[in-house]
This record gives sequence, C-alpha cells and structure tokens, in this order.
Amino acid sequence: MKMSGFGYTSILAIVAIMSLSILSESEVLKQPQLPAACHICKGQLNELSSFSVLNQVTSDCRPWFRIGRLAVCKDCGMVQKPVTEEWLQEVEEIYSGYAVYEQGGGVEQVSFDQNTGASLARSEKIVDWLLRQGVLPNTGSLLDIGCGNGVFLRAFGAKYPSWQMTASELDTRNKVLIESIPGVTKLHVGSIESLKTRFDLIVLIHALEHIPSPIDYLKSLSSILNPNGLILIQVPDLEASPFDILIADHCTHFSSETLLSVVDKSDFDCFRFEAVCVPKELTLLAKRSILPDECASTDHSFQHSALSTQHSVIAHIAWLQKIVQQGKTTSSPLGIFGTSISATWLAAALGNKVSFFVDEDSNRIGRGYLGCPIYAPKDAPKDLALLIPLRTDIATAVSQRLAHFNLQCIIPPL
Ligand SMILES: [Zn+2]
Repeated sequence: MKMSGFGYTSILAIVAIMSLSILSESEVLKQPQLPAACHICKGQLNELSSFSVLNQVTSDCRPWFRIGRLAVCKDCGMVQKPVTEEWLQEVEEIYSGYAVYEQGGGVEQVSFDQNTGASLARSEKIVDWLLRQGVLPNTGSLLDIGCGNGVFLRAFGAKYPSWQMTASELDTRNKVLIESIPGVTKLHVGSIESLKTRFDLIVLIHALEHIPSPIDYLKSLSSILNPNGLILIQVPDLEASPFDILIADHCTHFSSETLLSVVDKSDFDCFRFEAVCVPKELTLLAKRSILPDECASTDHSFQHSALSTQHSVIAHIAWLQKIVQQGKTTSSPLGIFGTSISATWLAAALGNKVSFFVDEDSNRIGRGYLGCPIYAPKDAPKDLALLIPLRTDIATAVSQRLAHFNLQCIIPPL
C-alpha cells in the first residue's frame, strides 16, 4: 500500500501553471468535451471505457465517486488521465480538502515487508537507498519540492547532517514544524523560480505523477540545479500496483519504461534507478551530464509497446472489477485489510457491508476509519471475512503471515 506525502499546495500550483501549457483557456472554452492529447508527447489517446465503472480514491485516501477517464497514448504508451478542464477542476477540488496521513494522525505511513512484517517509514527507506548509492558528498544543498510536513527532510537531515536543506511549499501552515527540523534553513513559499539560488539535489517525492506536463516541469528545474546537481524522483510503479490507476489526482501512471523515457526527454540522464527500495515505487537519481550505459534509459533494446501496455491496463481494470464483485458476493458484515489507497477504494465500493479494518501500523490501530474501527490482526473478528485488496501474490503472502491469527482471509482472484 502506498500513500502520497507531498505538499498539496505546491502541487496545486504546479498543476495550475503547467496546465497552461497543455490547454490554453481558449482551447478549453472551444472544445471542452474533446479528449486531450497525450500530455507527454501530444500523441493520440486511446480511452479505456471500462475504467468508468470503477469508483476512485484521492491520493490522500478519500473515496472519490466521480466518473473517471483513463487512456493510453497510442504513440508513447503512457497510461494517463486525460488532462481536461474537468480533470483540472476535480483536482482543484481534491487538493482544497487535502489531508496528509490522516489515518495515522499525521504520522508517515510505514512500509511493510509483506514476508516478514518488518516496517520502516518510506522516507527512511529512500535515505537508506541514497546512502547505498554513495553518490552524495558530505555537504551540499537540497531543495525538497512539495515537502508536506517535512518527513523526508527529517530523515535526510538525520543521515546527512552537514547538508543545508530548503523546503518548498506554497503556504506556511507547517512553517514552524519544518523550520525546526535540523538542517532546514528555511521554508520557501512561492514559485521555485523565485528562489534565485541553485541546489545540489532537488527532491520530487510523489509529485511528478500529479503534474500535467512532467517534461516541461523537469526541464524548468535546470535553472535551479547546480551543473553537477542531481534530481531525486519517486513515483508509484504502475506495473507493481494496479491500484494506482484508481487515484483520481494522478494524471500520469508511470512504469519503469515510461518514467525513464520522460526523464530522457527532459534532458536528464538517469544515474541510478531502483524499483525495490520502497515496494511498489520507482526511485531514481538523474543528472544533466551524460553518463552512457549506466542506466536502462540508454538501452535501445528496451522497446516499448503501447498496445501491450493497453492490454495490460485493460487486464488491471478487469481484475479490479473482479475484486469488487468478490466483495459484493462475500457475506456481510466483513472487514478489509489495510487503510490506504486500495482499502479505501474497496470500502467505498462495498459501502455498508464493511464493518471493520485491520492494519499492522501501530499509528493506525485503535483509530476509526470511514466510520469503522481499525483493529490489530490479533484483535480482528475471527468469524467474519477479511478481504485483502492487494496484488494477489502480496495478499497471499500477507494471509500466510497472518495464518496464526485464524482470520477468514479472502485473497483477490488471479
Ligand atoms: Zn504520448
């Protein structure tokens, strides 16, 4: 399960600014119903009509019942929400009520190893990964774009105490908290262009998938990046998590291939790439100078196929429909494992059939969620079905790990 931890105000501003390059006001007014072009390559989109029957969820885990649209670009193969005037309005509505990590009382969601149950906050995993790369000097300057409540800054500062860190947000609601983090020099409020300084590392964690024109946005970062500076990007991995398409405010659903392609087209070269440091996320470091053969983006044998992507996304949609159907045919009341994206989505689809949630995150256990209690596995009702809305292989591992609690686990169909 994943959850976004970016600052919504920055992303809202980015969405607003970058959308101007996608849809001019006159275009929107003239042709509001026409499908948008691909926001990566301007190519033609193939809409997947079966998606519209699924309910959605916001990236801060709120049920979202608007009819969604999903498409695959016939040219570049990017899976995306068409960036239309309607989508932009929906996103504005979503961000206006945004809450980060509400289920955990503002504490970052931990990431569980589904085999061992071991947990570590996502930000700490990213910093550990950075340490393993061994590419950052002992001192430097960092900019965290859309820093939210500063969880990444806190984790980074603990391991790189001599770095100077700048936080970026559009409002000051977390100013005192963020500026109290050791190593943070200031919270910058406003556009990044007004920073008038350059950085050694620019961080975009769970931001790029929200931005309607990611290539233009990444290119714009060159003006505030030192010549040998790096950008750190983390986005959800569509191939590892079919649930990502359900997130209404994610307009780009990256795979390894399409993320590397976007980075390439943005005049950056991928420097280090990682698909496992945080489960179901893609993480990379990129720089402007050319380092041939260090990354898959330079591997010309890595051919994409828009058609095979389309088939795979249609299969994702069909599988998600099966999960809802499975829940609808399971006896009531029932429970749902997890309290994040997929659990929220399924709970909303099943409505009042759901009477409890089960979570292993101690920050969430004992709280209420969507009007139902959150139990630890050991305290969950043993006579009621527990749906596990995770990828089938992961759900199987979870159910095996929880076997000694004798819960009525139900794994999604294949
Ligand atoms: Zn395209």
